[in-house]
Amino acid sequence: MKPAATAHPHNPWLAHAVRISRMAAATPGVFICDLVFQDSAVAEEYTFAPGQFNMLYLPGLGEIAISISSDPDQRDCISHTIREAGNVTRALGELPVGSALGLRGPFGSSWPTENCIGRDVVLVAGGIGLAPLRPAICHLLAHRERYGELNLIIGAREPSGLLYTTEFDAWRADGLNVHVTVDRANSDWHGAIGMVTNVLDRLWLRQPENTLMLTCGPEVMMWYAVQMAIRRGLSPESLYVSLERNMNCAIGLCGHCQFGPQFLCKDGPIFRYDRVASILKVDDL
Ligand SMILES: Cc1cc2nc3c(=O)[nH]c(=O)nc-3n(C[C@H](O)[C@H](O)[C@H](O)COP(=O)(O)OP(=O)(O)OC[C@H]3O[C@@H](n4cnc5c(N)ncnc54)[C@H](O)[C@@H]3O)c2cc1C
Repeated sequence: MKPAATAHPHNPWLAHAVRISRMAAATPGVFICDLVFQDSAVAEEYTFAPGQFNMLYLPGLGEIAISISSDPDQRDCISHTIREAGNVTRALGELPVGSALGLRGPFGSSWPTENCIGRDVVLVAGGIGLAPLRPAICHLLAHRERYGELNLIIGAREPSGLLYTTEFDAWRADGLNVHVTVDRANSDWHGAIGMVTNVLDRLWLRQPENTLMLTCGPEVMMWYAVQMAIRRGLSPESLYVSLERNMNCAIGLCGHCQFGPQFLCKDGPIFRYDRVASILKVDDL
């Protein structure tokens, strides 16, 4: 008889048993948690698209939505980059390697990597917003020849808040122009100071009409980034934003993450900007 997990591979309610294979501090208050499936048949079947998220379940505590931050081609584990926000994330951060938890997923829409083919791409990340973009970066660089100019603009409040800094050189070597800026810094910092929009304002764009922008970070940052992109000549149809709201079922049934007429869990979290522009700036939505 096949194990239950394999018999119901697409049951969205089924939490698969996973184990923590690695825990690493990333930036203050943020850690990286690598997970492996207990059932090798589930591991074999599990694939995700860049930008999708999992629901991580800690028995007795709760279930939370966390974007997948690993390379989609990496098969040995799934990474999540997590900020300690409240009960579940804090408890998860304290678990030792080897601990068991539940995972449902992957869920949600993904970055439009197919649409990027033959075009220039600008990725704009603020703080932990780089986490859901990392799988897209890995994918774009794994198929570098398909794309035009690739630029990544990363912003953080301060240098200590920058994620994945040890990977920047490899990304650059693989053909990604990495631009880093921080809001404030001390004398040890030799990079740019200012907002990501300042970098976007000065970025050389060889063909704005054939450039896509993928952005993830605080909503106010994404709002200003899309305004700047439009000013720079990108069309609203070529801008993609990733939105987050409190989420429960992850399959569009409970209504917790309703965003105007859409559900963030199944229609998002990644949206084409022109499809959410009218509701993006509405408070409490
Ligand atoms: C699609 C999606 C992807 C996400 N990806 C990541 C990720 O990669 N890394 C990560 O660290 N977090 C991510 N989050 C946010 C994460 O789900 C919340 O931080 C987490 O649910 C908080 O749970 P908690 O029990 O620790 O905190 P709680 O005690 O539930 O909340 C603590 C505080 O965080 C606020 N909060 C809770 N959930 C959210 C949310 N979804 N958005 C904004 N504020 C929230 C609460 O209102 C409260 O103020 C994602 C959320 C969504 C919807």
